[in-house]
Amino acid sequence: MNEAKGATKASCMDDFDPNSLSVAAAVQRIQAAIEPISGCERLAIRSALGRTLAENIHSQIDVPGHTNSAMDGYALNGSDIPAQGLQELRLLGTSWAGRPYAGEVGEGQCVRIMTGAAMPRGTDTVVIQEHVELMGDRIRFDGKQQRGQNVRKAGEDIACGELVLHAGKRLVPADIGLLASLGIIEVMVYRRLRVAFFSTGDELRSLGEPLEMGAIYDSNRYTLHGMLSRIGAEITDMGVIRDVREDLHNAFMQAATAADVIITSGGVSVGEADFVKDTLQEVGEINFWKVAMKPGRPLAFGRVNDAVFFGLPGNPVSVMVTFYLFVQPALRKLMGDLHTETHTISMPCSSRLKKRPGRVEYQRGVIERDRDQTVVRKTGPQGSGILSSMSEANCFIVLPLESAGVNPGETVEVLPFAGLV
Ligand code: AMP
Ligand code: MG
Repeated sequence: MNEAKGATKASCMDDFDPNSLSVAAAVQRIQAAIEPISGCERLAIRSALGRTLAENIHSQIDVPGHTNSAMDGYALNGSDIPAQGLQELRLLGTSWAGRPYAGEVGEGQCVRIMTGAAMPRGTDTVVIQEHVELMGDRIRFDGKQQRGQNVRKAGEDIACGELVLHAGKRLVPADIGLLASLGIIEVMVYRRLRVAFFSTGDELRSLGEPLEMGAIYDSNRYTLHGMLSRIGAEITDMGVIRDVREDLHNAFMQAATAADVIITSGGVSVGEADFVKDTLQEVGEINFWKVAMKPGRPLAFGRVNDAVFFGLPGNPVSVMVTFYLFVQPALRKLMGDLHTETHTISMPCSSRLKKRPGRVEYQRGVIERDRDQTVVRKTGPQGSGILSSMSEANCFIVLPLESAGVNPGETVEVLPFAGLV
């Protein structure tokens, strides 16, 4: 891999590889090549959190169901508001939330009313208690009132029959509450996406195994497990597969029968022991892309039988960057989610950032408060193997292809991790 080091006097687009694909083009190709899974299930609304709706939800009721008071005060008919001077009305009783006043309210009469209580028959206006003088069973108020004030009309929030949530909406806590407010007990959602993954590399050891000289612990399976858990996938962890052609072949075949999606890490670059590439050419239709980005340049994408395949690079940071940028929107689309785009935010950068033109860089940053403004600073060393830079970070600082670095105080685009999962 041609990792740019430091800011040498580079000619413009020094790091540019004419055979590489832009990030946007790679995302677009992936999204265009996949369709949502078929298969739905009906779930109780609480269990549907994080799932994607597979049906449109129309309200069967008006919300609010009854015209009611928005304030504590007195319900009366607007025709009793005096044109000038003061008006006195007789108090008939009280309308409580959940315990409405049953009688009719006539001219010269009013009812004490609480927030959320149904408006009694004959009333259309609430005068708040602070504007009223109470004298035994009579109230007095002035003419600075508007007919209809402080009243919430039935169906004002949601009318019966209205489309409330559309198919393709990923359900967040507010949606679950909204469904409950409509009296909806169950909804139809897409079934969970089955994702199988494994790591490749002779140097990798699973936790609990001894580390001999040259061996390292497999961390990618753990970050992948975390990211996939957050996205709500049904996960099959297939462990470490050695760089042995037959083992890889078998692993792919097994994964393809069980899963909708297969994700691997490592073995897609041009290293000598990278058999994943060769094996994949035997088992499926796979594209090998060099994406004009750093970190995470080599990326494989395609199909193994009916399963969608992502071959991510081996470096621990590259795995996370490519997962967030390419795999995550794809998984969302496969899960039926129609809103897969992520948004960057502009803010000043308080660090000096080194970069050479030619690739988009996803440097790791921390959004923080600096006196009276929100800024982003970079985490320490940015090497693609340094996972602690991801652990400390709460965002990517996205530096465009042509950028030749950033001076402190310049504005940059930031992609918060919170927006990614
Ligand atoms: P590769 O793409 O297979 O050449 O791997 C690139 C770098 O990432 C090498 O230094 C590997 O040792 C490292 N690497 C690959 N897979 C993993 C993994 N699962 N966990 C941690 N490091 C890995
Ligand atoms: Mg390898």
